[in-house]
Amino acid sequence: MDAVTRKTDLRDASPLWASTPLISVITSKSCALASYDVIIVGGGISGALTAEALADGKRSILVIDRRKPVTGSTMASTAMIQHEIDTPLGDLSRMIGEEAAARAWRRSAASVKALGKRVRALGISCGYQPKQTLYLAGEGGGPRKLSAEFRARQAAGLEVTYLNGASVEEAYSIHRKAGLLSDTSASCNPAQLAAGLLREARQRNVEIVEGVEVTDVAEIGDRVALSTSSGTLLEAGHVIFCTGYEFLKSVANKSHSIASTWAIATPPSTELPEWLTDTLVWEAADPYLYFRKTRDGRLLAGGEDENDPEAYHSEAKMKSKPKRIIKKLSDLMGIKLPEPEFVWSAGFGVTPTGLPYIDRVPGMNRAFAVMGFGGNGITFSQIASEIIRAEVEGKPDPDSDLFKFPS
Ligand SMILES: Cc1cc2nc3c(=O)[nH]c(=O)nc-3n(C[C@H](O)[C@H](O)[C@H](O)COP(=O)(O)OP(=O)(O)OC[C@H]3O[C@@H](n4cnc5c(N)ncnc54)[C@H](O)[C@@H]3O)c2cc1C
Repeated sequence: MDAVTRKTDLRDASPLWASTPLISVITSKSCALASYDVIIVGGGISGALTAEALADGKRSILVIDRRKPVTGSTMASTAMIQHEIDTPLGDLSRMIGEEAAARAWRRSAASVKALGKRVRALGISCGYQPKQTLYLAGEGGGPRKLSAEFRARQAAGLEVTYLNGASVEEAYSIHRKAGLLSDTSASCNPAQLAAGLLREARQRNVEIVEGVEVTDVAEIGDRVALSTSSGTLLEAGHVIFCTGYEFLKSVANKSHSIASTWAIATPPSTELPEWLTDTLVWEAADPYLYFRKTRDGRLLAGGEDENDPEAYHSEAKMKSKPKRIIKKLSDLMGIKLPEPEFVWSAGFGVTPTGLPYIDRVPGMNRAFAVMGFGGNGITFSQIASEIIRAEVEGKPDPDSDLFKFPS
């Protein structure tokens, strides 16, 4: 039976988080009811954040996944929870206008703060740690571009510090001509975060079903009907497709594509500069290198992206790309790094603006799709959970216009 969403191996090899504790959730193999207030398709970080946001103990909510929850793209994430959107504010302003771009960046910063509060309030054990972000000048932008970006961010009311080459050298022993330093970001174990949210939602009566695929969707009056691979027909007042890069086939022609990326993690207690403990790093380049330190002292890094949805399956690239990432890291920080203990590759969704789509499924009123997240997936999933909750509660979010499908 065909699925209503794209179907693919979301990632190759085993990412770091797959061997960590606290990443499982108690699930059922079949649905208890035929009718729910809300059905969330997908049990990754987007579905988990949305489920927890909606779980008020009164609504009947089902999270349904064709896999074990948390084992899709969320397991592959390097989980740099950045308020900085992949598209610099200056570039985004040229694409969607200054006011809208500033609003998108401010919303992103506010949502990272909100996520931190949420994790603390719920007491989710996922190594959540507030961090600074260092954005380095690179092939995609030197001091002139970074100082323009600095001014744009300041004008938008965002906290940021400009560092010239000498300051970058002094603070980080990195030879780059400029950098932007900002607070507000964070990092965590994304699998533990998603599993913790799902466990929390489950305690508030959210039902979680694994191994059942949604095969079709139709809106009938004020209800949304779903057919499933188990043969059960379901219906709900709202359906939210949080299916990540396995997006709905009906939106495949919307501005959105899948690219390939690679990631590595060195062994615990790798010898690393002290400042990396509380700093995420990325650079003005395309593709860009990004890295951070985990709580157990690994260097976790990614990059080498290719605009090819199949490249991440290549065995040859699985050997060559991690080597290039390690070499770039060693050259940048001037340190010798050990062989990585984990290397993995995955597909990820990209949109022309770098902003996600959080919108009604075209032609439907009560079915929503949450998709198209690039490197800011977790931040955007938090925004999605805020917008979807507002929509379900009938009080539309003031920023929802930023995340609409192109018409
Ligand atoms: C290598 C890599 C590094 C990344 N690094 C970062 C980072 O540093 N910071 C950051 O913020 N983001 C990062 N991201 C992005 C972020 O991880 C993703 O945006 C996020 O994990 C997507 O979560 P999701 O819940 O939308 O998708 P998923 O975790 O893939 O969950 C979707 C679920 O939907 C289910 N599903 C799909 N179709 C159906 C169907 N028809 N019926 C039933 N179930 C279905 C799937 O089985 C899956 O479990 C990275 C991504 C990758 C791949």
